[in-house]
Amino acid sequence: MATKIPEAPRVGMVSLGCPKNLVDSERILTKLRSDGYAMSPDYAGADVVLVNTCGFLDSAKEESLEAIGEAIAENGRVIVTGCMGKEAEVIRARFPNVLAVTGAHQYEEVVGAVHDAAPMPPSPFVNLVPDAGLKLTPRHYSYLKISEGCNHRCAFCIIPALRGDLVSRRPDAILREAEKLVEAGTKELLVISQDTSAYGVDIRKEPRMWKGQEVIPHMTDLARELGKIAPWVRLHYVYPYPHVDQVIPLMAEGLILPYLDIPFQHASPSVLRAMKRPANEAKVLERLKKWREIAPDLTIRSTFVVGFPGETEADFQYLLDWLDEAQLDRVGAFRFEPVEGAAANDLPGAVPEEVKEERYARIMEKTAAISAAKLQAKIGRMLEVIIDEVGEEGGATGRSQADAPEIDGEVFLRDAGHLSQGDIVQVEIEDADEHDLYGVPLA
Ligand code: SF4
Repeated sequence: MATKIPEAPRVGMVSLGCPKNLVDSERILTKLRSDGYAMSPDYAGADVVLVNTCGFLDSAKEESLEAIGEAIAENGRVIVTGCMGKEAEVIRARFPNVLAVTGAHQYEEVVGAVHDAAPMPPSPFVNLVPDAGLKLTPRHYSYLKISEGCNHRCAFCIIPALRGDLVSRRPDAILREAEKLVEAGTKELLVISQDTSAYGVDIRKEPRMWKGQEVIPHMTDLARELGKIAPWVRLHYVYPYPHVDQVIPLMAEGLILPYLDIPFQHASPSVLRAMKRPANEAKVLERLKKWREIAPDLTIRSTFVVGFPGETEADFQYLLDWLDEAQLDRVGAFRFEPVEGAAANDLPGAVPEEVKEERYARIMEKTAAISAAKLQAKIGRMLEVIIDEVGEEGGATGRSQADAPEIDGEVFLRDAGHLSQGDIVQVEIEDADEHDLYGVPLA
């Protein structure tokens, strides 16, 4: 039986007032899109309607109240945000049924209100952000979506059918959003899209002005500019195309984090062919070696699918041997599961469930051993760590540059009660296990 993907809730937006309000609306919608929400162009199709109000003049207030009234009459499920949020009592007195009222620039609250009013059904097959990350991210890190859709047609994936071909955001809009996020306290930007390495292929000839200079819509140019804006910039969902070589020097320079999330999914050429994977070429191991020569601290995270239709024991063994060579730092694995509408469902050679389980256990054992050895080698080193949480008894939890939130490991700190969430500190690593590090901050 194929897994059915639940439909994303739809959000309608009415944006009133000045260009600043419009930028806020864009930020709210961008965040909601990156959380997986769909947009509705009309009241009827929306699960919830956001009214971003203006309260600058009495006439603007009246216009805002009228817009809220219209949204309530047409849809009924309304969240109010923007400048009139200051006058929540006025709004509630006139419209007791509004679901939530949040003020101007209370970007996290309004996105949170949407999550409460129309929760996203979790689905590992379509969400770029891990399920745990669907809660609102804390202020010190933010996901930054740079494009929507995908030009590939991987056999197990329904994203192109759901979201269409790749559509890149303008680089200046991305950089403006990044700057606003950093102004609001973000220290770490997590760049996401279905294929970050393909960013800009659709708008390559449309450079945009940013701070007096042209920025070309290309992953390298964008990464360089983002690196100037945020202390930490982390790239997710990158395919090992030759042009990715150009971002590695940015990592060596410390402009962006020496971290690449590359969803390899498999290594055996025949399985990759059947999967119709992009950048499926034999030279990947050589490429990884060269990258590590340039940026020795480069962390590579990846995901793999075991039990894809037609995967033989020899294919699987090829994958295990490849992993021995590739020495990836972080690996997630999935047992193949048909998803309704995916081309792979019709492929011959279904792998029995017990074989999938057995292969899954073997790949997890192999990758845990590689991860443990890599972490052991970090004992005694001084690493930069971002603080996620400060505990009550002098401890704190953070992440090194090698750890993306929710999906990688953590660094557990002692004697760290003086630190605050979002601090980036030097930590001496004292111990390690299979996934996590333990250490003490230097200051
Ligand atoms: S690259 Fe493949 S798996 Fe990723 S979104 Fe595109 S089609 Fe799906």
